[in-house]
Amino acid sequence: MIQLYIPLNFLGVLYREIKQSLTDLDKMFALMAREREVADRTDAQPLGGLAQPTVRFEHVGFAYEPARPILHDLSFEIPAGKTVAVVGPSGSGKSTLARLLYRFYDVQQGRIAIAGQDIREVTQSSLRQAIGIVPQDTVLFNDTVEYNIAYGRPGASHAEIEEAARAARIHDFIASTPKGYQTMVGERGLKLSGGEKQRVAIARTLLKDPPILIFDEATSALDSANERAIQGELQGVARGKTALVIAHRLSTVVDAHQILVMEAGRILERGTHAELLAQGGRYAEMWALQQQGGEGERFVEVMSL
Ligand code: ATP
Repeated sequence: MIQLYIPLNFLGVLYREIKQSLTDLDKMFALMAREREVADRTDAQPLGGLAQPTVRFEHVGFAYEPARPILHDLSFEIPAGKTVAVVGPSGSGKSTLARLLYRFYDVQQGRIAIAGQDIREVTQSSLRQAIGIVPQDTVLFNDTVEYNIAYGRPGASHAEIEEAARAARIHDFIASTPKGYQTMVGERGLKLSGGEKQRVAIARTLLKDPPILIFDEATSALDSANERAIQGELQGVARGKTALVIAHRLSTVVDAHQILVMEAGRILERGTHAELLAQGGRYAEMWALQQQGGEGERFVEVMSL
């Protein structure tokens, strides 16, 4: 009994950590099958309408634990092909939106719909096929660079992998290593920097070419040149896709079609960068502070001033 309990308990912890960081999807799927926290309905249909995948959060309420509500009656829309960016202090619920859209958890009030379909009514495999995630901290498999990029679309040709790596601006780095695309990475191989790992994640996503994208911006420090370059590459990936961007820096959100300013699980303000500046509210205040504080300063730090 004890022998059985320990591994299951360990898997539970591992599963929670994985869900938290939106990272190692492979392990997660295997564990998901065991835990069945979120399961397909018997009549689940494949997600359709992906030519126009408008995403809508409709009066969404959510709590990880019943005693502590995290999101309160939250509604917004990401029109097909547009980008909505979410900013706000640490703990305001930004990443929770991403976890709910990917259906790591089910909402407790309201619904999330893609092209008019409640995501609880579609198969999880079709939902996850339609969504690409560039997480904060990409976990790499202990395998070759080629495998790690191809993970976005198993069966992709080497030419396609290289094309994705070029577009994510990681090709030159890979080519400079002695074994090129066959270089082993991960814990037991070549260690990549935070920026390089995010580029691998971007290349994976480019290869997968999903109609919906979730980008959880890294909170870890990247130097500002790297940060700007990654933002540029991300814009390339997001072009024409329905994208939810969890931003930790205001500089990332300037071009979004809509910016949501969150606080304590509620949307405090919404609009384009120009509209929010004109409103002269919280966002405008943060922007002014950030300008004084110098480029690259973190939204979360500014918010807590
Ligand atoms: P950050 O900018 O620091 O990433 P965030 O705005 O993305 O923060 P979330 O990660 O969405 O915030 O967390 C919102 C709240 O939910 C926080 O108070 C957090 O402690 C809580 N929370 C997150 N994950 C869990 C969990 N698995 N169980 C219980 N509470 C959780």
